[in-house]
Amino acid sequence: MPRAVVVGAGVFGASLAHRLAIRGWTVTLVEQYAPGHVRAASGGESRLLRCSHGPDRWYTRSAWRARSLWQELEEEAGERLFVPSGVVWFARRADGWEADSEAVLAEERVPFERIAPDDVGQLFPSFDPDGIAFALHEPAAGVLRARDAVRALVRLAGERGVRIVPGAARPAGAAASVDGEALTADRVVWACGAWLPRLFPDLVRIRVTRQDVYFFGAPASWETPPVPGWVDYDGAVYGLGDLDGRGVKVAPDLEGPELDPDADPRRASEEGEERARRYMRRRFPALAAAPLVGTRSCPYALTEDTNFLVSPHPEHDGVWLLGGGSGHGFKHGPALAEYVSGLLEGEASPDPRFGLAPRTPAHSLRTAGTEGETVPRRRSRET
Ligand SMILES: Cc1cc2nc3c(=O)[nH]c(=O)nc-3n(C[C@H](O)[C@H](O)[C@H](O)COP(=O)(O)OP(=O)(O)OC[C@H]3O[C@@H](n4cnc5c(N)ncnc54)[C@H](O)[C@@H]3O)c2cc1C
Repeated sequence: MPRAVVVGAGVFGASLAHRLAIRGWTVTLVEQYAPGHVRAASGGESRLLRCSHGPDRWYTRSAWRARSLWQELEEEAGERLFVPSGVVWFARRADGWEADSEAVLAEERVPFERIAPDDVGQLFPSFDPDGIAFALHEPAAGVLRARDAVRALVRLAGERGVRIVPGAARPAGAAASVDGEALTADRVVWACGAWLPRLFPDLVRIRVTRQDVYFFGAPASWETPPVPGWVDYDGAVYGLGDLDGRGVKVAPDLEGPELDPDADPRRASEEGEERARRYMRRRFPALAAAPLVGTRSCPYALTEDTNFLVSPHPEHDGVWLLGGGSGHGFKHGPALAEYVSGLLEGEASPDPRFGLAPRTPAHSLRTAGTEGETVPRRRSRET
């Protein structure tokens, strides 16, 4: 039986450990904090699952495959991890990210519908369509209960025989060293999210930024579902309604300040709150004065082009690096684990675009991630 050590029990590592166990591997999973902990990128309550990825077919297929695997996982876990609320994109341009996405969704037979600006208000208790060219609705998309999902993955991996080792691992040649014990295996995979560049400073080109998320108190009509998740790609903002009573989520998606994932406090900025409020005033006018009821700050592990990092270590046979979620990785967890399992078993070679070579910054796979245009002002309209 092949043996693997996976370091890091975020969604990438936990999904991989679970998948390898299903495929008959003997697996050890090392995690330095409690699985699902709030310092990790995977430790938020909610993550959007959408299939639109502009013109990129690989990620579209991966997200669609992941959706099925998340549903299988729900059955195995006996809990609802995927909330099928749908996700709506507010397209500011007729020929932008959303139109590119639409073409790929059609080819891949992923359900979608185009909605006229004046009809988008049917999906939200309050909505101002000003500045929107059209909306792209993915009715089969939705929201993952992220923290719950990671904890479920680790629990299920354990039930499938994965040995869970608490502790901080250090690279030691081809092994992972934990508290002086050298863990060796046929494959050692470092799936360490925002910690990866510190562990492999000469190899990994990942920037770690702090990203703040804001939750606002709202009436029951804002519950998700039925209120869908939403993304304003060019405006670099996304969110969802009130899931599980946490409040309406609004997340400005500009790249934040650098973050030390262990030591820095998770204190969301007032500037970000104001940005979120400004967006609500314009897009969701009834929430203009909604009280702030919570915040979260999580690390993005950003590659230069927002493609993932999936690469063998250039010097140590059997050692792999997995990460670079770049603010959009969660949804892919189980599908990425399938892909990586195949690579570890030698079924295929890794795609060079996921490699360690320097990359050219490109179209972001998350949101534009920059200021973009602002939503033009107009008299607010409630629907
Ligand atoms: C605010 C925010 C919003 C996001 N929204 C979305 C979204 O809507 N949809 C989406 O798909 N994605 C989203 N993402 C991205 C997604 O959450 C990440 O891409 C994904 O969670 C990355 O998972 P990971 O396993 O690579 O990293 P992490 O979740 O950070 O996990 C890495 C784990 O490795 C452990 N570790 C590190 N070093 C060691 C060591 N030496 N020894 C032992 N353990 C170690 C850490 O403790 C941690 O648990 C968002 C991210 C953030 C921050």
